[in-house]
Amino acid sequence: MSVTVYSCALCFDDVGETDPELLRLTVSRRLSEAQQELFVHRTCLVARLDPRVPLGQVFDVD
Ligand SMILES: [Zn+2]
Repeated sequence: MSVTVYSCALCFDDVGETDPELLRLTVSRRLSEAQQELFVHRTCLVARLDPRVPLGQVFDVD
């Protein structure tokens, strides 16, 4: 069984689709249909967010 592996958009290390660290970011512009998905490690994203940004349930680690 193969596992899809993504490159983290922040550190460029591998992150597998079954890794609980994997988060998907969808980036879009207002008034545009264009959008892009980015894959990141939860830890990498949290480290780059200002600590005043509230983190929702999606950031919880099981
Ligand atoms: Zn990363």
